[in-house]
Amino acid sequence: MSRRAAARRGRLVVVGGGITGLCAAHTWCTMAIDAGAPVDVVVYEQADRWGGLIRTMVRDGCTVECGPDALLVRKGGLLSWMRTLGLTDALVPQAPTGRTVYVWGDGVHVLPQAMLLGVPLSTDALDAIDWIDDAAKARAWAEQDTPFVPDGDGSLGSLLRKRFGTEWTDAVMRPLLGGIHACSIDALSAQAAFPQLWDALHTHGSMIRALRARAPEDADVPEQCKKSAFVSVRGGLGTIVDALVRDLERFGCTMRLGVDAQSINTRDADAVIVTAPPWHVSLAHMPRIQATSVAYVVLAYDARDVSLRPGSGFVAQERPGRMITACTWTSQKWPHTAPPSRTLMRCYVGRMHDTRWMELDDAALAAAVRKDLAQALGIVCPPLWTHIERLSDALPHYAPGHIARVSDARKTLSAHRTYIVGKAYDGVGIPDCMRSAADAAMHAWHAVTE
Ligand SMILES: Cc1cc2nc3c(=O)[nH]c(=O)nc-3n(C[C@H](O)[C@H](O)[C@H](O)COP(=O)(O)OP(=O)(O)OC[C@H]3O[C@@H](n4cnc5c(N)ncnc54)[C@H](O)[C@@H]3O)c2cc1C
Repeated sequence: MSRRAAARRGRLVVVGGGITGLCAAHTWCTMAIDAGAPVDVVVYEQADRWGGLIRTMVRDGCTVECGPDALLVRKGGLLSWMRTLGLTDALVPQAPTGRTVYVWGDGVHVLPQAMLLGVPLSTDALDAIDWIDDAAKARAWAEQDTPFVPDGDGSLGSLLRKRFGTEWTDAVMRPLLGGIHACSIDALSAQAAFPQLWDALHTHGSMIRALRARAPEDADVPEQCKKSAFVSVRGGLGTIVDALVRDLERFGCTMRLGVDAQSINTRDADAVIVTAPPWHVSLAHMPRIQATSVAYVVLAYDARDVSLRPGSGFVAQERPGRMITACTWTSQKWPHTAPPSRTLMRCYVGRMHDTRWMELDDAALAAAVRKDLAQALGIVCPPLWTHIERLSDALPHYAPGHIARVSDARKTLSAHRTYIVGKAYDGVGIPDCMRSAADAAMHAWHAVTE
């Protein structure tokens, strides 16, 4: 892509029509309209639909998320986006009976609710765990008395082991936190991958103390979601994409599907916001960031054949021969997604350095997942149907040094009014993407118009 300073002010090109690109375009359009300026925005998406990783389909009376399925309600300005899009009333809390999470190690063990990202928040939480020995639990609880000396952006795994001890870290935090990024905690940047833990430690000298002291952030949370950390949207997360696209069309934004941005000329643009991940765009000065491919298998059972204990699913410890990394009990976590006659589950596979699933065709992959389910939960009956999604290069790898690399690239690119934003940079969660998209669009707008 090449571009020279354009005479006309206020023309934005957005590359990529996932949640980040749509939110960036939306923010710019809103700013233009508020300023009484014409809307001059084009969004290019190479696929034949909007939403990127977010896609919802309906099958057999079930709402099936083909990508993400949950939103952290208190994170990243999500609620202000939901208000803007008129979706606050459509937010659905996680079912109260579906809030328990398990870890599949030697058996399937419950994780107490008084924990955040694997950080124990009370001694009761530790007492409720009978599958880790007392010395390891005491070592984890001693995190609050362990002196902290800042040591730069190292690996998450080594930081957590120093703080909580090896046994707790490997049994609890490794599957929980590594699972979110489909990556070993030893290969993740502590600062970039879990800034809430990093900030907690740097402000209070202890993650336990900081997280126990945090004030509830419930002011804006709609009544129906106050008791839930995660929410979904009635009709599925695709509803957010539909609402964004509807608004953008109403604003007069030009929306182009099926266009690879490599082929377009951005010379006339005053600003270019690139939300396509860096491994899909050949642009000078992009930071080098690797990505991990993952897949998941959705399984629908006759509810009479499969009954699950209360909870929303499990994360799996890595074991030889084990394929599943996590399993969501969808119909229990989100009862609105399935009729009472169905038990819906989805099993995640694949991590960085674990690409065994790529060698398997759909039938073999479903069989491997069912073998794990039989072992973990004793489910041996055949599902009524399965649906498999293979997501190539879906998750970015935030390696140590990530923040500095991204910051250096941004400095160089913004001098050319090119802004990089999206899952590859400032957090993989949808709320992170929505917040950083708005920030980037505002930054670009001010750079262009002031
Ligand atoms: C399996 C999985 C489960 C997840 N679950 C959750 C969850 O429950 N909650 C949560 O908050 N987050 C979750 N996430 C993360 C979240 O879904 C993503 O980080 C977020 O949707 C990324 O949005 P994005 O717009 O930045 O990127 P994408 O959705 O990847 O969009 C980028 C877009 O750019 C387009 N593009 C690429 N190259 C070009 C090009 N050359 N020209 C034009 N267009 C191009 C792509 O086609 C794509 O549409 C999950 C991620 C995965 C993989």
